[in-house]
Amino acid sequence: LLSVRDLVVEFPTRRGTLRALDGVSFDIGAGEVLGMVGESGAGKSLTGASIIGLLEPPGRIAGGEIRLKGERIDNLSPEAMRRVRGRRIGMVFQDPLTSLNPLYTVSRQLTQTILTHMSVSEAEARKRAVALLDRVGIPAAARRIDDYPHQFSGGMRQRVVIALALCAEPELVIADEPTTALDVSVQAQIIDLIKEICAERGASVLLITHDMGVIAETADRVAVLYAGRLAEVGPVRQVITAADHPYTKGLMGSIP
Ligand code: ATP
Ligand code: MG
Repeated sequence: LLSVRDLVVEFPTRRGTLRALDGVSFDIGAGEVLGMVGESGAGKSLTGASIIGLLEPPGRIAGGEIRLKGERIDNLSPEAMRRVRGRRIGMVFQDPLTSLNPLYTVSRQLTQTILTHMSVSEAEARKRAVALLDRVGIPAAARRIDDYPHQFSGGMRQRVVIALALCAEPELVIADEPTTALDVSVQAQIIDLIKEICAERGASVLLITHDMGVIAETADRVAVLYAGRLAEVGPVRQVITAADHPYTKGLMGSIP
């Protein structure tokens, strides 16, 4: 479904060019959950941002290709990329408030997003929004669907963001540390929800985290980034039992 080939991301610095990603290649199959781990600064978020076209200048893609179903998406116009985001690739970030509009009720945000990306009537969009909110644990009967983001707890907000990421039926969801900002007691529920709802809808997932334990429980395959390079990519069991790279070997000790 997604193919990243020899991705290079650079930042200009006073002392020359910093190569933050250096030749990263991996694939994500249809319906697959690919976990991505690596220590802080390894380049995980840059990888996610490059795929969705949200790399912030002066960072730039200096080499490689990113393809979604065979089509290049790394060289699209900002306008075309906006259509890919939301419609074909959904996003869940660490802080739910970065994805939510404080001025819209949660049902309105979903309805609006569906209307933006899909040709359905307003009534149908609202119906789909309500059904999806129900699916993530915000039933219409509980009268919360017309509340505003600030009226929800962090965990509930992230549930809204998951619904928002999926409402235009994307093929891929990128979740970058989706539970880091949340209470430990709700972290596993949110990860399970992402995994289950994406599986139901046939969406693939790129799950970025620094927690190998989460990957071991959730992902089909794992990519390990180390200092901007891919140290390892393969089925989780295989990477756990036969790690090549010293960093990966160290990581495995952290699995419960
Ligand atoms: P974390 O686990 O802390 O979220 P990460 O793996 O997501 O880490 P990235 O945010 O992808 O790390 O950053 C990778 C590297 O890219 C950083 O170590 C830094 O060298 C470089 N980098 C990122 N943003 C910038 C920037 N705005 N200017 C210069 N360098 C940057
Ligand atoms: Mg990051």
